[in-house]
Amino acid sequence: MTLFFTEMWERFSYYGMRAFLVLFMVAPVASGGLGFEDARAGVIYGTYTAMVYMLSVPGGWIADRFLGQQNAVLYGGTLIMFGHISLAFPMTATFYLGLSLVALGTGLLKPNISSIVGQMYNEGDARRDSGFTIFYMGINLGAFLAPIICGTFLAQSQTFKDWLTSSGIDPRSAWHFAFGAAAVGMFFGLVQYVIGRKNLKNAGKYPTPAKDATEANRNRLILGAVLLVFIAVPVIVGSLAVSGNIELTPEKLSSVTDILLPVTALAVLGGLLFFGAKNKEERARLIVVVILFFAAAVFWGCFEQAGSTLTLFAERNTERQFLGFTLQSTSFQALNAIFVVALAPVFAALWIYLAKRKKEPATLVKFGLGMVGVGLGFLVLVPAAKFALGGYLVGAQWLIALYLIHTCGELCLSPVGLSAMTKLAPTRLVGLIMGVWFLAASMGNYMAGRAVKLTTTMQMDHFFLLMTGIPVAMGILLFILAKPVERMLARSHEESVGGH
Ligand code: GLN
Repeated sequence: MTLFFTEMWERFSYYGMRAFLVLFMVAPVASGGLGFEDARAGVIYGTYTAMVYMLSVPGGWIADRFLGQQNAVLYGGTLIMFGHISLAFPMTATFYLGLSLVALGTGLLKPNISSIVGQMYNEGDARRDSGFTIFYMGINLGAFLAPIICGTFLAQSQTFKDWLTSSGIDPRSAWHFAFGAAAVGMFFGLVQYVIGRKNLKNAGKYPTPAKDATEANRNRLILGAVLLVFIAVPVIVGSLAVSGNIELTPEKLSSVTDILLPVTALAVLGGLLFFGAKNKEERARLIVVVILFFAAAVFWGCFEQAGSTLTLFAERNTERQFLGFTLQSTSFQALNAIFVVALAPVFAALWIYLAKRKKEPATLVKFGLGMVGVGLGFLVLVPAAKFALGGYLVGAQWLIALYLIHTCGELCLSPVGLSAMTKLAPTRLVGLIMGVWFLAASMGNYMAGRAVKLTTTMQMDHFFLLMTGIPVAMGILLFILAKPVERMLARSHEESVGGH
């Protein structure tokens, strides 16, 4: 319960702010926005969401080695809260400072709170995947309420602006009240965490100590390098940009991220495969982690288009009336979260039901189902997009169907992936490997942002067909790999047990 509610509030703050971040950046200065052009807002948004997840790698490692997961969650949540407070001030410098603090804080909190969930279950406990699925409901309860409260009501509604005016406050500051609400959400999460923390007992309480002085020295060196790269460099570049000494164009920013992300991924995965394993069994498990990484990156690259190409499709090609309700293009973003909350218990029960009958699908099979799901969701939009080519608005039911199918795919992959990472990771690497999982989300988020560019050069229905083909092909590959991978894991386990 402690972890459920802490993560609920953290995600409330994340998704609450994400819901209107782009709108705030592109809104004219006269209405309280930053007046950025679309491309600039898009790149900042893509880089920010990619960074939020990428920082999970150093965040997970720092918890493993120095802080312990429990402290990392506390410090991370505190940084996030100050990040949103900084965003609540209407200045450009506080805007960038706020985004950076939220990204750093999430890097400390997100992977580590998930690792603690994993530590609640012993190896082989059939309730692990279900536990993660319930945790995932908490995530989405926050993700569902947040866009409605922070986005639709505080940032955008006339009702709130009128209320501000009547209280003698400039209605253009509505955006900043919305950022402030995200800070309040994180504050609730922290209070709740501090009170409930004792229930976590020893799970994630202590870091794994270095086994000798050489390792301790090496760890300190890596820590120094990490702090330099992720804190000193952005602070220097940011100050130069804000003071006007260098100009940060969207092109410059994206060309850095284009290189930084794959290089980080290759370095981390390579390091893990070549230096991470202490025996054959660990090596086999780390190979599986790498396979799951690639699958998840492609999955999120498709799925996270909810915030990019799919919101544009909602904005430009979809009718806003549905069964008597008037929707906004952003309203569609709450659909995924509602579906998760409704369906997560069904999936949790399904895995337990199947496990009891010894029929639970292997992790790779569940991942394959997730990939096929995200592909089929896009397939639904192919006829809709054809229709839209004629200049018509299509009914809201197409996107609703897409989100329903995407959610089923997500529930086969995302909570299962979280669970698998905690299961496959050697204990001393659990935080780092959780970071690797979120690195896949980071790549995915960035690709989902970059996909917008493809839609400007491809016909919409062809684009959606491509978004069907890629994940479905990958899903089939995972189905094929499932058996051999299971055999490899079993063999390596027998060999290590036999070797003792
Ligand atoms: N929606 C989930 C969350 O916020 C998963 C996001 C992700 O890993 N890309 O935790």
